Amino acid sequence: MSEKKPIITVKGLKTHFPVKGTKKVVRAVDGVDLVIYEGETLGVVGESGCGKTTLGKSILQLIRPTDGECIYEFEDGPQDLCKLNYKQLDKARREIQIVFQDPQSSLNPSFTVYQSMSDPLKKFGLKTKEERRKRVGDLLEEVNMQREYMDRYPSEFSGGQRQRIGIARALSINPKVIVCDEAVSALDVSIQAQVLNLMNNLKKEHNLTYIFISHDMSVIEYISDRIVVMYLGAVMEVADAETLYKKSLHPYTQALMSAIPVADIDHKKNRIFLEGDVPSPINVPSGCRFHTRCRYCQQICKEKEPEMKTYIEDGREHMVACHFSDEKFAENNEAEAE
Ligand code: SF4
Repeated sequence: MSEKKPIITVKGLKTHFPVKGTKKVVRAVDGVDLVIYEGETLGVVGESGCGKTTLGKSILQLIRPTDGECIYEFEDGPQDLCKLNYKQLDKARREIQIVFQDPQSSLNPSFTVYQSMSDPLKKFGLKTKEERRKRVGDLLEEVNMQREYMDRYPSEFSGGQRQRIGIARALSINPKVIVCDEAVSALDVSIQAQVLNLMNNLKKEHNLTYIFISHDMSVIEYISDRIVVMYLGAVMEVADAETLYKKSLHPYTQALMSAIPVADIDHKKNRIFLEGDVPSPINVPSGCRFHTRCRYCQQICKEKEPEMKTYIEDGREHMVACHFSDEKFAENNEAEAE
C-alpha cells in the first residue's frame, strides 16, 4: 500500500451493557482506538468473549456504543457514525456492509435468493424488477454461482454456497467497507479456502476494505494485511501481518501465535498454553487486564495499566500495550542481528 488513507477512525470506543438488577456493566468493548485504512484487510483476532464481534457491530452501529467516536470518511467529508440518527445511518449502511458467521440464519428461509437481495436494491435505486433480476444474476456470477439460482431457497444450498450468497448480498449496493464477522468459521476447511480466495479476488476488483473478525489465527494470517489482537474488550497489539507473526511483542499474541499449526515437521513450535479462561468482562482485572494469565506478570502489571506504545520499523507501525515491550523489542532486534 503506497499512500495510506484512513477510511474509519475509532477513538476511545466503549460498548458497555448493563447487568440486569445490578449496578454492574459488561465492558464488552472498553476504550478502543484504531485506524482502518482504505483498501486494507484489517484482521481482528482474540479468544471468544474478547469483544471483537461487539467492536464490529459497534462500528456499524448495529449496537450503539456507550462512548467514543467512530469517524467515517464520506465523500463529502468525515462524520462520526455514533452521532448519526437511524435515518442518517442509511447513508453509512450503503457504504459499510456486514457478512455474518452463520449464512443459514442470516438468510430468510422463506425467501428465494432474489427476494432476499431485491429489497436493498430497490431501496438504493433499482426501480424495475428487470433491473433487479439482472443485478442479482450478475452478483451470483461474481461469486461463482449460476444466475438461475436466484429463484431457489436457502435450504437448497450448501453452507459454502449460502456464504457466497451472503457475500453477494453484501456487495449488492456497492459498499466500500465490509465487516466479515467469523465469515468462514462455520465452513469446512476446504470450503473456507475457496471463500477466502473469492473474498480476496472481490476485494481487488471492487477496491474494498475488509474488517475481518475471527478467532482463528490461521485464517487471520491468510487474509490480513494488518492485525489487531484484542483481549477482554481492549487492544493488546497492532501490526502488519508479517511483523506480528515474526516479531510479536505481547505475551498474549505470542500465545495465540504458538497455537497455529505448522505443516513443516522439522519446524516445531513451542506451544504456549494460557492458564485458565478469559476473566469476566464484568470484573476486568486491575492494571494490565491480561496479568492473571501472563507468564511474565510482575507487581507493576497488577497495579498499572500499560500504555499503548508505538514502534516504527521499516516505516511500519507496531503498537503494543505491555510494560515490558521495550525489552522484548530489543530482544527481537538482537535475535535478528545474529
Ligand atoms: Fe504481561 Fe505485564 Fe506485559 Fe501485561 S504488562 S502483558 S501482565 S508482562
